[in-house]
Amino acid sequence: MGKYDFLIVGAGLYGSVFAHEAKKRGKKCLVIDKRKHIGGNAYTENIENINVHKYGAHIFHTSNKKIWDYVNSFVEFNRYTNSPLANYNGELYNLPFNMNTFHQLWGVKTPDEAQAIIKSQIEKLNIKEPANLEEQALSLVGTDIYHKLIKGYTEKQWGRKATDLPAFIIKRLPVRFTFDNNYFNDNYQGIPIGGYTALVEKILDGIEIKLGVNYLSDKDYFDSLADKVVYTGMIDEFYNYKFGILEYRSLHFENEIIDSSNYQGNAVVNYTDSETPFTRIIEHKHFEFGTQPKTVVTREYPKEWKKEDEPYYPVNDDKNNKLFKLYSELSKKESKVIFGGRLGDYKYYDMHHIIGLSLKKIATLFNEPDSI
Ligand code: FAD
Ligand code: UDP
Repeated sequence: MGKYDFLIVGAGLYGSVFAHEAKKRGKKCLVIDKRKHIGGNAYTENIENINVHKYGAHIFHTSNKKIWDYVNSFVEFNRYTNSPLANYNGELYNLPFNMNTFHQLWGVKTPDEAQAIIKSQIEKLNIKEPANLEEQALSLVGTDIYHKLIKGYTEKQWGRKATDLPAFIIKRLPVRFTFDNNYFNDNYQGIPIGGYTALVEKILDGIEIKLGVNYLSDKDYFDSLADKVVYTGMIDEFYNYKFGILEYRSLHFENEIIDSSNYQGNAVVNYTDSETPFTRIIEHKHFEFGTQPKTVVTREYPKEWKKEDEPYYPVNDDKNNKLFKLYSELSKKESKVIFGGRLGDYKYYDMHHIIGLSLKKIATLFNEPDSI
């Protein structure tokens, strides 16, 4: 018998929620992370009194009231609503695609006028069954929006031609015929007041944590510490890439402290042309309506993932999904290790998915009804 009931590898939201819930049920947990901080990719760091989203902008959104109440039971969330702007070669457009965008593009003032333009563009294309992201986008929003607001951004983000990308990526983006710049359709949305690190600190309250340690560098030792292991790292790395390497997209962040109280007037501005090398500029203070004298901005440069990089986005195309299935079959045979999280499941999950999945896993393990 190990000293702990659960060793949890990864202090991101999956591992933290799991540890919190297991502790609540009387179990002894140790959480480890190879990074020097908790929070995983949602981690925020205080710079110039501003909570900086160190691994990219994170906006919490969900339509699941139980998950919303769950996160709000730890910290208060603010009323932030994500309304990014797109900058296409210096022209500004509202996102997601809505009546404001259509007015800016074509001068139209009514939903009927906007729908007529989009319809006529779609009809000319004559796409029957969209086979890839380009065809999916064109058949949803027509040619103008595709060329100004989707193609350049998507091809930079994924490092692949839009014709080689799966259609599902673009289905996340709403198209609306109302003047509504809210990026999400969900009922609940906001940012934890004090940042995500404050949220995860509360979730992990009273739990033993060791930071800056890599589970895989001494797996036998760490396994000996606990009866069960919850692993939220890369599943292919766990198996030493024996079937091959799963592909990810990575990002390079360039942070800048600027001696101005307001740099771009919005938290998120996407650069949708193909010439600008970064995909977006984040101005972190606007996530919390900050009035600090200085500001911190981050330029986000997409890049191909290599082993030493952070694996940010799983590339869920057919080839990689097939490879993941091989690892997934193997993982089901493990008696001691439970796999979870964005990297363990190799899925493009948002934070609310991750919290829901972690709570579901607890319910299964403890033979409780699924309440999520
Ligand atoms: P992670 O947060 O990745 O945590 C896993 C942890 O495991 C990491 O800290 C890692 O260091 C650790 N680890 C891995 N291997 C080992 C090892 N061998 N030993 C020790 N530790 C290890 N979601 C939203 O809901 N809204 C958003 O706006 C949003 N924006 C995003 C923007 C970007 C750029 C990215 C990349 C993601 C975004 N997400 C967003 C998704 C969100 O980050 C994830 O859903 C969530 O953070 C995943 O939590 P996790 O615990 O599964 O994984
Ligand atoms: N997208 C786009 N133009 C934009 C924003 C997004 O074409 O201005 C596309 C792009 O393919 C991206 C996908 O929509 O990968 C999903 O965007 P989202 O903002 O949800 O991505 P994330 O925040 O996860 O990076």
